[in-house]
Formats: sequence, C-alpha cells, structure tokens
Amino acid sequence: EGGPPKSANTSKDKLLGGLLIDEFDESSCLSRYQSAMFRKVSPHIPSPYLLKRLRRYEALHKKCGPGTELYNKIVDRLNSGQYVGSAECNYVVLISYSGLGNRILTLASSFLYALLTDRVLLVDRGGDLADLFCEPFPETSWLLPLDFPVNQFRSFEKESPESYGNMLKNNVFANSGDAGPKAKVPPYIYLHLAHDYGDHDKLFFCDEDQLLLQKIPWLVLRSDNYFVPSLFLMPEYEEELHRLFPQRDTVFHHLGRYLYHPTNSVWGLVKRYYLAYMAKADERVGIQIRVFESEPGPFQHVFDQLLACVRKEKLLPDVTPEEPVDLTAYIRSKAILVTSLNSGYSEKLRNMYWENSATNGEIISVYQPSHEEFQQAEKQMHNKKAWAEMYLLSLTDSLITSAWSTFGYVAQGLAGVKPWILFKPENRTVPDPACRRVMSMEPCFHAPPFYDCKAKRGVDTGALVPYVRHCEDMSWGLKLV
Ligand code: GDP
Repeated sequence: EGGPPKSANTSKDKLLGGLLIDEFDESSCLSRYQSAMFRKVSPHIPSPYLLKRLRRYEALHKKCGPGTELYNKIVDRLNSGQYVGSAECNYVVLISYSGLGNRILTLASSFLYALLTDRVLLVDRGGDLADLFCEPFPETSWLLPLDFPVNQFRSFEKESPESYGNMLKNNVFANSGDAGPKAKVPPYIYLHLAHDYGDHDKLFFCDEDQLLLQKIPWLVLRSDNYFVPSLFLMPEYEEELHRLFPQRDTVFHHLGRYLYHPTNSVWGLVKRYYLAYMAKADERVGIQIRVFESEPGPFQHVFDQLLACVRKEKLLPDVTPEEPVDLTAYIRSKAILVTSLNSGYSEKLRNMYWENSATNGEIISVYQPSHEEFQQAEKQMHNKKAWAEMYLLSLTDSLITSAWSTFGYVAQGLAGVKPWILFKPENRTVPDPACRRVMSMEPCFHAPPFYDCKAKRGVDTGALVPYVRHCEDMSWGLKLV
C-alpha cells in the first residue's frame, strides 16, 4: 500500500487487462501506459468478447476513418446530397456540448452505440478535445475533420427539421414504406438526445426506429447524457450487450479506461499533483463537492452534510481537542483530496484536523488542486484542470461524491469504486441521511425515456429488469447495477 508509482511488477497490467494494445508510440501519450503505475489493478476483468469487439472496431475505424479513401468517397456523396443507401462505412458524429463530465459520459455512450451498430465514431473537437485526450484508436483519428461538409451541424438543436424526432413528427418517412428495404432515407440525420429532448426524439430507443436509422450513413448526435442504461433495455442489443459486458455494472469502467487517456500536458498536472501530495500517504480519500446553487458559497449546510456523512459512515476519523502524550500515537497518514469550485470546504476540513487531533491517531492532510469559483467551459486551462481533477479523484482509495454530478460519475467509473454519494440538499438543509453508498459504480442516465416501444405507452423503465434501476441520487434517473 501507499507510495506509487509502483514499478515493473504492476506494469504487467499496463494494457489494463487487454483493453489497450501495445501499438502506440509511448512518448506521444505517456498516460496510456503509465496509468497502471498509479492505479491498483482493477478487480474487474474485461470479457474476451469485449476485447475482440474493440479490436474489430479499431480495424473498422482505421479502414473508414478520416483521410481514408472510403471516407473521402462517402463524404463526397454527402457533399453532392445524392441519395445513398447503407454504405460500407457508416458514422456517428458527436457534437461537442455541455460540461466536461457530461461530454465524457456522452462520448462513452456514443462509442458503445457505434460499437453496437458497426459505425465509426467521429468527435467534434469543440475548443479543446485534442488538448485533453489522446487519440484512443491506433493509426487513425477520432477527430471529425474540420472540413466536414455538413457545416451547420453545430447549430442543430431540438427544433431543427433535420432531427429524427422532427422528421417523424412531419411524417417525412410516411410514404417510403418506413423501414422497408426500399425506404428512401437522407444521407444524414440529426439525433437530438440532449436532456430537453421530446417524445419523438426518444423513439431512438426503440428497435423499430433503429431499423430505419441503420440505413442512414451519417448520424449526427447531440447529447449531454449517459444514455447507456436505455440501450440495455432494447431487445435488439440485449444479447450482444450481455456478451460484451457479462458484468453489467462495468460498462463505463471499461470503456472509460479504454477511451480516455490524458494528453501529456494534463498527465503532467495529474502526476505532479499525485506525487507531491498523495503518493506517500498510507491511504487516499477523494471528496468531490459540487453545489448546484446560483450563489458560489461556501455553504455551512454543505459542510455539515459532509461531516454528517463521514462520521456516520466512518470514512474519516473523529476529532478531539485532547493531545496525545506520546508521539508514537501518530500511526498512519491519510491524504484527503478535495475537488470543488470553491475553496471553503477544504479549508474548513483542514482547519478541523489542524486544530484537533484525530481520535484514531491518523495524520490527516487535506489538499485541493484548484478552486475555479465558477464553471468556465471555454477556458483551456480550466478544462485541463477539471479533467486532471476527475482523474486524481479516480486515484483515491475511497470516494465521496455529490448528487447529480457527472464530474463525480467519471471519477468513480475510472476508479472502479462505489462511492458514497451526498444527497442533494433541499432548502439549504442537511438531508437525512446525508449520504449513502451507491449500488454500482455506473453513471446515472439523468433523462431516460419512460416508454414501452411495443405497447406504445408509458412505462417505468426503472422497474423492467433487475439490472436497470433508478439512481440513488436522482429518483427518475436510470443506472446499470
Ligand atoms: P457536472 O455539472 O457536475 O455534471 O459536471 P460537468 O463536468 O459536466 O460540468 C461542470 C464543470 O464545472 C466542469 O467541467 C468544470 O469545468 C467545472 N467544475 C465543477 N466542479 C469542479 C471541480 O471540482 N474542479 C474543477 N477544476 N472544475 C470543476
């Protein structure tokens, strides 16, 4: 325990149980093969079938990716607006949208969808994607080329006539025999799967609609949600998903570690912080405080909630003003990593363990890498720090996260741990209980559909199968367990 980076003996897992392949140039993305030195070996082993499918996906992406002959040919057809049936290469284009945690979850969901539908995933780089993440696929790129011809795609939104939902509403497919083999389909379609999507957009999650979407070479997708749980409710994908993920609560854990490798500059932020403040401790605890209030805080009720949680769940030691007589009473060290937009919570915690001693003799240190005060999605260093902090949280041994926050979901998923989640306070009072351990390390889908595609009526999608349940922190959300 304690004191990584662990050297050669654990680097046997440098390929993360086979998720990664040994074909990348190491220096261009140091985190890819160094991350294993900073993490415990995951007890969750990816299925051989998942590994096989990832290799198949990599081959497809290389064949159809940007700059290939096939890509150029298909893009030309898109340019000419000419009707195309299902081509050799089909694509999902993901529009960059929302906060970084949301983007990471959406990207993983879109990748899984691409995997299930044999499509190639291309990602709109937005302002900074390439500064944050290394390329995940060998000898190709996941970045959507800047000259992608559907140049208005970034302005697609709920009301766009190009959206699948609006096309259904406007009966565009009505006379084309629907999903029949002769169906006339556009070369691209916009899928609006963001939190404000409508009932017609939600039909995306019906098998029948997927039959039609299958024929469209380009799906341009906007979302800010982890929509994986609803894919698990579709009969069409049931068997395949079960083969890919026999342990269903590991989807994001595996896909996240497969896809997201910090670039060298973000990795520098992670490594330096970890080595300076966290590595030498006997144990590391991560605390992520995310407050959804219009004022910045800090709020006393949030701090009180945190204390109530750590006391009840015995996550941090109690304190006493009594001073131990004997120096040898100080037995272990515990580093607490706090991430928050506000510095108030970690200051209070640090003071508490300075002004008092821990009753169990632990030496508690409290660190917070940044306090950016408010969300500034457009600033480059801001997102680098946010990504570095999610990653640092994922290197802790136990984790306390905040309700509703995708930032925390990313950390828990990469770590492969079930955090204690602080419930969302109402009326600025401490909830009772203050927190609970979650059922699984999977992220919560915040805006799932409640629709039975077969019966064509509403249904509680959190009560259909034992492995898709409502989330601990959001009663209407869905998560895999
Ligand atoms: P969510 O809103 O909590 O679901 O998480 P997102 O990551 O989608 O959006 C919140 C954004 O606010 C992050 O991407 C950061 O830009 C910023 N942010 C929130 N909490 C923190 C934090 O603890 N540290 C840093 N550096 N940024 C944060």
